[in-house]
Amino acid sequence: MLGALVASSPISFSAFGAPVKKTGRSGRLNLSFAPYELQLRHAFNLARSQRTTTPDVQVQIEYDGLIGYGEASMPPYLGESVASVTSYLSQLDLGQFSDPFRIEDIHEYLDSVAPDNRAAKAAVDIALHDLVGKIMGQPWYKIWGLNPDKCPNTSFTISYDKNPKEMAAKIEEASPYKVIKIKVGLDHDKELVEAIRARTDVPICVDANQGWTDKEKALEMCHWLAERNCLFVEQPMDKKCFDETAWLRERSPLPIIADEFLQRLPDVTRAAQAYDGINIKLMKSTGMHEAFQMANLARALGLKVMLGCMTETSCAVTAAAQLAPMVDYADLDGNLLIANDRFDGLKIVDGKVTIPDRPGIGVELI
Ligand code: MG
Repeated sequence: MLGALVASSPISFSAFGAPVKKTGRSGRLNLSFAPYELQLRHAFNLARSQRTTTPDVQVQIEYDGLIGYGEASMPPYLGESVASVTSYLSQLDLGQFSDPFRIEDIHEYLDSVAPDNRAAKAAVDIALHDLVGKIMGQPWYKIWGLNPDKCPNTSFTISYDKNPKEMAAKIEEASPYKVIKIKVGLDHDKELVEAIRARTDVPICVDANQGWTDKEKALEMCHWLAERNCLFVEQPMDKKCFDETAWLRERSPLPIIADEFLQRLPDVTRAAQAYDGINIKLMKSTGMHEAFQMANLARALGLKVMLGCMTETSCAVTAAAQLAPMVDYADLDGNLLIANDRFDGLKIVDGKVTIPDRPGIGVELI
């Protein structure tokens, strides 16, 4: 259920998510938001934690009778919470802006209010892009000039289960997808890979979530995985282990992708010194505006580009998918991992990311 609606500026709409009755042109951006707890379909096992829900805040910006939808998802390791997001959003006065196309100015304002709060800023950014796309009557991949036929396959994440029947069911659940992503850095890494390889040849990709502590062992594991049709390894070691990661990158037969290491645009250049690629996520990048800049910079630096997400509704995942034609790897399964999606959006067709042909970020409320 949505929590209580909070409006950061005086506005006039009935219920959260309901169509706004147009009573004349407001000419101002009206922001509102409400907490929304995401229920995970399976408990999420990472190298350092386990959880069954993800805190989330749903956001909308109304302008001249149109609504743009946005979302902040806050997995605990990123350090944001419902309290921090609602506190940040409550400080905003978007009513000072009368032109939603001033995305650059609005981002300068968002950064001036507080330095961090990346997911909260992403929520505003996504709603703003949705709104602008709806005003233009075009989806963002078209506004950016991208070819949707170039979208890659998405990976689908499964975790280890010591019960062989449960493990087989998880692998079966992944069968519509062309890439399987696994979280490693736990006690059963090799068992998990062997269980998958006993049933399917589809490529895997591996996310250690900083879980490998020894660079020699990490290199050994990279070689072992390379012999088992693995595409890349994401964040093998702690983000602070910069020199060790650079050492590993020099020797690894698999590309090493940065995730926890980087957040925003200025981090991309430094990532290029220790990693082969970067994982861009809207909740880290403050949304679509900076994510697009990061993807362009990464490509100019010769880095691989991966597009990821948190556990999110189809709102933020479909917003991210607008960028999918410019990336090498997509990991856009966040909406598939939750049981209470509010939106219809991107589809995975024959394993491939398929962007809806709808204006804005391409979602509709269910
Ligand atoms: Mg990751």
